[in-house]
Amino acid sequence: MIIRNLSLQGFRNYEAFACAFDSGVNLIVGENAQGKTNLLEAICYLSRGSAFRTRKEAELIRFGAEFADLEARVESYGREQSLRAVLFAARRPRQLFLSGVKKPSREDLDGVLNTVLFCPEDLLVLKKGAAERRKLLDDALCQLRPKYAKALEEYKRLLAQKAAVLRDRMDRPEMLELIPDYNERMAQTGAILITTRAKYLRQLEERAAAHHEAFSGGSEALSLNYQTVSTVTDPTAPALEVYARLKEHQQSHYRAELESMQCLSGPHKDDFEAALNGLPMKAFASQGQTRTAAISLKLAERDLFEADTGELPVLLLDDVLSELDPGRQDFVLNRIQSGQVFITCCEQDKVTHIGKTIRIEQGRLL
Ligand code: ATP
Ligand code: MG
Repeated sequence: MIIRNLSLQGFRNYEAFACAFDSGVNLIVGENAQGKTNLLEAICYLSRGSAFRTRKEAELIRFGAEFADLEARVESYGREQSLRAVLFAARRPRQLFLSGVKKPSREDLDGVLNTVLFCPEDLLVLKKGAAERRKLLDDALCQLRPKYAKALEEYKRLLAQKAAVLRDRMDRPEMLELIPDYNERMAQTGAILITTRAKYLRQLEERAAAHHEAFSGGSEALSLNYQTVSTVTDPTAPALEVYARLKEHQQSHYRAELESMQCLSGPHKDDFEAALNGLPMKAFASQGQTRTAAISLKLAERDLFEADTGELPVLLLDDVLSELDPGRQDFVLNRIQSGQVFITCCEQDKVTHIGKTIRIEQGRLL
């Protein structure tokens, strides 16, 4: 997928902006607070129908303006289409257009422009708790596999119901009769979650490790290890096998669940461990290594999206160059060979040899 050009009117700090892009790397350069991230936000909005820094549409409209108008010409699946969104300060809803035709819902624009975004918060994925890493897997799989999205939704519902029964077991002991039924269905859907996640993580690991190796000049081997319920020794085994292991775990934890009044068995606490040359990243990785791995994960996510949909999503990299040494900066600027990439950065002296440099000052193209 390639964004040919973008025009903005009244979006964030842009009064009027128009720019054509390179089909490779587009380096967006400018001092702090000039509108670099705003530009990525505009692209993201046209891609997903929502901004990544706010949920409030009004914040996207330039102060004092009556509306914001965003339009991009996009090439995907061999044809060129235009995406347009108009947001109004005084009324709702916004209006969406695909090649000039007004579309009633966001889903009508699905698949025209896919984007993979890296923003500084994504570094937390490798540093923070398991929930962030589970979300990374769940978000990608929900987009790629409708069956997974359904199983996840059902699992979450069953988990909430079982947790409520355990929590209220003193007041309503008769409800405990429901537990075997919850357990049965949680083992069935849980097995789908575990096997799908484990297979996806393997593919992600293979590609992310290749990117990370090139990125680090061959010195670092990235590995990703799926961690799930202790009785599931092989999470990539057939779902029926994983189901049996889950039942086993449920049985051995039944007493403990009653005593703690909490749900202790199932894949809702799953995690994956990222390691570099065998050392867990959470404890040992440097800032630059963490950033390198987080970007490699995004590149891998993009590869897998392409394998599934046939088109490489546009890559949006916000503030990735800081903390990286010259060799790693060169990788980002010059060696992400495939597809279209947008990179924001503050330093004026950065150069990309395979694309275009776009200079921004106070919401204007220089
Ligand atoms: P940095 O290098 O610090 O990340 P940046 O170039 O990415 O900077 P942006 O976040 O794109 O900066 O732009 C921030 C500027 O946009 C801020 O000065 C902010 O006040 C301005 N801005 C944000 N929303 C609006 C709006 N609705 N109307 C006008 N200006 C806005
Ligand atoms: Mg910024």
